[in-house]
Amino acid sequence: MKTRVSVLGLGRMGAALARALIKAGHPSTVWNRSPDKAQPLAALGATVAATVRDAISASDVIIVNVTDCAASQALLRDPKVAETLRGKLIVELSSGTPREAREAARWMETQGALYLDGAILATPDIIGSAAATILVSGPLAAFTAHQETLATLGAVSHVGEDPGTAAALEAVGLSQLWGGLFAALQAIAIAEAEGIPLATLERQWKEGVPVIEGLVADLIKRASGKRFTADAETLSTVGVHAHALRHLADISRIHNLDPGLTRTYESRFERAIAAGHLEDDFAAMTQFTRAAPEAAPKAAGGTRPSAHT
Ligand code: NAP
Repeated sequence: MKTRVSVLGLGRMGAALARALIKAGHPSTVWNRSPDKAQPLAALGATVAATVRDAISASDVIIVNVTDCAASQALLRDPKVAETLRGKLIVELSSGTPREAREAARWMETQGALYLDGAILATPDIIGSAAATILVSGPLAAFTAHQETLATLGAVSHVGEDPGTAAALEAVGLSQLWGGLFAALQAIAIAEAEGIPLATLERQWKEGVPVIEGLVADLIKRASGKRFTADAETLSTVGVHAHALRHLADISRIHNLDPGLTRTYESRFERAIAAGHLEDDFAAMTQFTRAAPEAAPKAAGGTRPSAHT
């Protein structure tokens, strides 16, 4: 007999999660604030709960997927709902921060519920397939007990006992996502301003991917070992990057592009160079991501005075 599962929240993602569970044969109960979204799932065999309380009472595993963690907590902390949580496993798949996840986990414990906080690094169309990466954190025993059920949603992995870890790794994924997408916006604007066909841009972009992947892998390796001083393996120094950035800043100015993006890069380089890292490996830049300049520590061995900015 497959585990009974309830899904709270049937937006684009929640409906995809529910469909995967129904398809895998889990007796599924669904609830959504706007009841009309439950009808297609009822047609697939789900039981539609009239209230959150009914949905939680129907199953041992409760998957929550609403807009964010705050909306989810507002639903679950309703006193009439909270009294149904004892003995349940709540799998929170709404986006939130590590702090919210830890706070939710503490509160769930006071209610006698088990809690896993998750991050979906996938789009609704691939939910239920091995391509859908889902990270969860919280008690390993709770994950292990329901691993088979959770695996129907995608490639679900347990990333730590600290309930905040999945949300923290989601933030890592968002940094990667928007780093790439905002860079692409800048690239498209330059190509259009220079009359370059976007098909040409796309070809060049793809060719650049392995180079950037290599640079990122090297950066991570050097950051792990705090190897900031340039050596024989250094691919490029802070100074070389800072110099090349002038070309991007110039072309952006010429075409009246929002200077915010290049200004951010410039100010990071200025801080690093002022602190003596001109000739250090680019990995020295990892020390200049915090807001307060005075918080930036000195590099190990990378304190030469700057030759120029
Ligand atoms: P969506 O289509 O906009 O659906 C939002 C859902 O949240 C709806 O079911 C909505 O109910 C419900 N909701 C919002 N506020 C609520 C409240 N105060 N009380 C009760 N229900 C409330 O969004 P989505 O794309 O499914 O995203 C849901 C979650 O998955 C988000 O945390 C998102 O970050 C995460 N996620 C989404 C994707 C994606 O590609 N879509 C990928 C990764 C993660 P109504 O129908 O009544 O409005």
